[in-house]
Amino acid sequence: MPVNSNKVSAYTIYVNRWGTLRLRCLRCGYLGPSDGPLCPRCGFPLIVEPRGVLRIDREKPSILRYASVLNYGDKAVTLGEGLTRIRRVNGGVMIKDESRNPTGSFMDRGGSSVLISNVSGEVKVLFEEDFTLSIATYANAAGIGIRVYVNPDHVGAYAELLRLSTMSNVTIEFSEGGHRVDIIYGEPPIP
Ligand SMILES: [Zn+2]
Repeated sequence: MPVNSNKVSAYTIYVNRWGTLRLRCLRCGYLGPSDGPLCPRCGFPLIVEPRGVLRIDREKPSILRYASVLNYGDKAVTLGEGLTRIRRVNGGVMIKDESRNPTGSFMDRGGSSVLISNVSGEVKVLFEEDFTLSIATYANAAGIGIRVYVNPDHVGAYAELLRLSTMSNVTIEFSEGGHRVDIIYGEPPIP
């Protein structure tokens, strides 16, 4: 995932060993568990089903105001993500300033907070720059270990890798792949 990616909000996180989340297929309507990121009926990428009816808690100055529909586990690991400012730039273009999230990535509000609220034990993930740094930061706050696989042929974001190397909960392995990871990053197509 490029550091300066301007792709926003259309992504999924697939978790392959925590089976409590209900997954939905937007193409064929399948709803239920899956042991992979794709629909067991039709092969389309799955999304996580909201856990309840949306009730916005405006007292909360973060993504937690939408907790009624977010799949937090029995705890909510939060670093104050979300509710970032809307800014006007370049003569009127409105942008949502995701750099104000705790690690500077929209991953914080979208994925890492909810993901890490659902896990225990070590999490295995590929090095995917801001995606991995965000997950590792939230895991660090929750006391969860992260094993990061780095392909030495594909390393590009040296700054993110350096930051990961300073975190006490992160173990970095350099290898060319073939690992079974717990989380992958992807952007589903529009059905
Ligand atoms: Zn399907």
